[in-house]
Amino acid sequence: MGRRLARPRIEGESWVRMTALGGYREVGRSATLLSTRESKILIDCGVDPSDKEGATPYFNAPEIQPLENLDAVVITHAHLDHCALLPALYKYGYDGPIYCTPPTRDLMSLMQLDYIKVSFGEGKRAPYESSHVREMVAHCIPLKYGETTDIAPDIRLTFQNAGHILGSAVCHFHIGDGLYNVAFTGDMKFERTWLFNPTANKFPRLETLVIESTYGGYRDMQPSRADAGNALKAVVERTLSRQGKVLIPVFAVGRSQEVMLVLEELMRTGKLPNVPVYLDGMIWEATAIHTAYPEYLNSQLRTQIFQMGQNPFLSPVFKRVETSEMRERICNDIEPCIVLATGGMMNGGPVLEYLKSWADDPKNSLVFVGYQAEGTLGNKIQKGWNELQLSERGKPISVKIKLNVENAEGFSGHSDRRQLMAYIASLDPKPERIIIGHGDEHKCSDLASSIYKKFNVETRAPMNLETIRMK
Ligand SMILES: [Zn+2]
Ligand SMILES: [Zn+2]
Repeated sequence: MGRRLARPRIEGESWVRMTALGGYREVGRSATLLSTRESKILIDCGVDPSDKEGATPYFNAPEIQPLENLDAVVITHAHLDHCALLPALYKYGYDGPIYCTPPTRDLMSLMQLDYIKVSFGEGKRAPYESSHVREMVAHCIPLKYGETTDIAPDIRLTFQNAGHILGSAVCHFHIGDGLYNVAFTGDMKFERTWLFNPTANKFPRLETLVIESTYGGYRDMQPSRADAGNALKAVVERTLSRQGKVLIPVFAVGRSQEVMLVLEELMRTGKLPNVPVYLDGMIWEATAIHTAYPEYLNSQLRTQIFQMGQNPFLSPVFKRVETSEMRERICNDIEPCIVLATGGMMNGGPVLEYLKSWADDPKNSLVFVGYQAEGTLGNKIQKGWNELQLSERGKPISVKIKLNVENAEGFSGHSDRRQLMAYIASLDPKPERIIIGHGDEHKCSDLASSIYKKFNVETRAPMNLETIRMK
């Protein structure tokens, strides 16, 4: 690593460009190559959460081959659509460093090991093994928010809070000696949430911003955090009062912990009856990592944990589902309860076991608290499909959806349309160009044209495999 960093600079005309390798005009398989005359940096390395063809980024593009020529990989945050494929790089010849925040390093290795397990459980194979995850961890160089470091002879990296999940970072690249500055927001939330402060919006210099647009469409307005909490309370209350069970599909990281905070407070203050809240599928481990990095949480939660000695994550209402026997017992139990289970978009994971057991009873509720990408099972249920083809021990079975399906909107870790526009307005300094990705096709182009009209800056919504010259 040191040798590559210290190599002599190349003389001649300077340039900066980025190539979209995945996650543009779509959500999933995020990957971008940032290249200069001297260096190549890969930002994110994810998979697509839905089952469709082409679940991996375009790593066969000539720009990124051979992988040995990459100087560094930078990871914005630990969600699988940004980091699931990272260990595979070490299988296919990359041997260099990965820069990420300390919580991202811990969370992503947890997620990747789980990804191997979940793939195996579905009769598929992850494109790497746990030994590659270990190799990846050994190559991680953790960097805290606000620390600046050289990652290539001509590139310096600084992370700042993105407000999306624990350790999520806006990645700011300073290229050359004052030549160019570009920042990638990764997934971002420009609102103070139960867990985090809003996305950082001040930079020493900024010419281009690459921003997400998951909820960038004209009509993508979300309720506030308070409304989201009330919506969840109402569904849970109704379901428990008719002796039903509540199933909440979540990613292990992010919404799980927010939903936990809301439920814990409602139960502690007597606004909801005390029923067991089961956590299935890596949520427990992910929550433990949250308590290990309180400095990455918002100040209010930090005070509650440190000064009031009241760590809501350690409440006895939360119970960890440790074995498949325990899961089966909960599935068949007649007592009301709440289950938070992965995966968040229902394309696999323990959540499907609960769904299979509880789907035919209208007393029960399935509550969506997060984004369901096009093509995922969660998206189909949201659209009202009432019969699904799932598999039981490798055999196809059909499941009728009779349980009550609800959306508690407003828990999203993504900025809605208003927050994205407010973020652009608040940027200091104002960039010359904004590049939009991480959103369905029409959301990317809609946000691009709205930002152009409102702020009069150049905008682009590139397709995958497009290259944009920035300087
Ligand atoms: Zn994310
Ligand atoms: Zn994402």
